[in-house]
Amino acid sequence: MADGFDLVVVGGGIVGLATARAIHVRRPNDALAILEKEPEVGAQQTGHNSGVVHSGVYYRPGSLKARLTLEGRAALLEFAAREGIRTRTVGKIIVTGRPEELPTLDTLEQRARENGVGSVRRLTGKEVTDRLPGAAALGGLDVPTAAIIDYPAVTHRLAAELVSDGVTLLTSHELREARPAPDGWTLVTGETLRARYVVNCAGLECDLVARAMGVRPPVAIVPFRGDYYRLTARMQAQVPCLVYPVPDPDLPFLGVHLTPTVDGELLAGPNAALGLAREGYRLRDVDPRQLLRMAEFRGTLGLARGYGTLAAREWMRSFSPASFLAAIQALWPSVTRADLGSRTSGVRAQAVRPDGTLEDDFVFVRGDHALHVLNAPSPAATASFAIAERVADEAGIPRAS
Ligand SMILES: Cc1cc2nc3c(=O)[nH]c(=O)nc-3n(C[C@H](O)[C@H](O)[C@H](O)COP(=O)(O)OP(=O)(O)OC[C@H]3O[C@@H](n4cnc5c(N)ncnc54)[C@H](O)[C@@H]3O)c2cc1C
Repeated sequence: MADGFDLVVVGGGIVGLATARAIHVRRPNDALAILEKEPEVGAQQTGHNSGVVHSGVYYRPGSLKARLTLEGRAALLEFAAREGIRTRTVGKIIVTGRPEELPTLDTLEQRARENGVGSVRRLTGKEVTDRLPGAAALGGLDVPTAAIIDYPAVTHRLAAELVSDGVTLLTSHELREARPAPDGWTLVTGETLRARYVVNCAGLECDLVARAMGVRPPVAIVPFRGDYYRLTARMQAQVPCLVYPVPDPDLPFLGVHLTPTVDGELLAGPNAALGLAREGYRLRDVDPRQLLRMAEFRGTLGLARGYGTLAAREWMRSFSPASFLAAIQALWPSVTRADLGSRTSGVRAQAVRPDGTLEDDFVFVRGDHALHVLNAPSPAATASFAIAERVADEAGIPRAS
């Protein structure tokens, strides 16, 4: 198209960029653009996550999360190896010091096997402490394939590759309005663009973009802020791998964990506190528009009923270092207040159904000349390359032969 694009991807996070790449590979001659509202790619969820390449242990067998995590991690690690992006297969041990959680470890081991995750093994308490002398240890699950990666580097590399291949990347271009046009969409940022087809990968804003494009989304995005503490060198020296708790089976969040990073830091977090702003990285961030949306959303009442107690606990962890410390001590009893360094945070885009329950799987919804990615929370960074292929399939773009 001379005055527009065959396809526009809204959102330059890892899912949008991987999607643009998959589509470009399938249709190299199409005019393709990415709209990103921030001055840089990967500035929201992708740039504020734990940096973990998940293995696929937790997810319901047969779910999209289970399938796309395994496919996606292989493609992501291959890309990282080819591009010289920092990764380390540090492995993960899910630990518990609580006897009532041991059956959940059995369930997780079973899920891992059904999902085709290799080399997962149950550990006795002694085997856990042999490997991790400071860990809480009645039992554990060893997941040796878990890795860490530099996600910001992945997004920057994807963006550079796309631009050098002729794809248009428009940063500082927020999609503000979308009007149906005879052959697709007229998109308004600061400028006006035309697109035959739009793929919505707007993360924390994806339901708002879908609404602006005439879709009544089956879910609403609710932000859940996750805080992290950087831990001291004393703790870094003791924790060589990812250390996770046994997750609450009713929640799509994995619980406060210990994460070595490719930069050599050790993070503890994230909790999952209901956010009062979609991009509210600080405790004091409150967006009245988000409060209004929550007040109008049918699911808010169900959310409060179903998760009120948990929400209060997670809020406490945000406000009280002692409460956050208790969550870390459940994994690593000897950690002290003096081990907690500076804080950082990320905000998850979690889809909530109108009955207030949390949507557990990835969600894709077709619109008119459009495809909307309406739930891509963790492990969507791990799964991004496989999500991208799935989105291209859903958009009806045949694979290159
Ligand atoms: C605290 C935390 C920890 C996590 N840990 C992990 C982990 O260890 N491993 C893992 O696999 N996953 C993890 N995740 C999940 C993972 O980071 C996300 O699932 C993934 O980054 C989603 O990518 P995305 O591209 O969909 O969203 P984003 O990265 O949020 O990208 C969406 C983009 O759309 C842009 N945008 C929004 N609205 C508009 C608009 N109107 N116009 C133009 N642009 C717009 C935004 O600016 C943003 O850049 C974590 C997430 C969080 C928050």
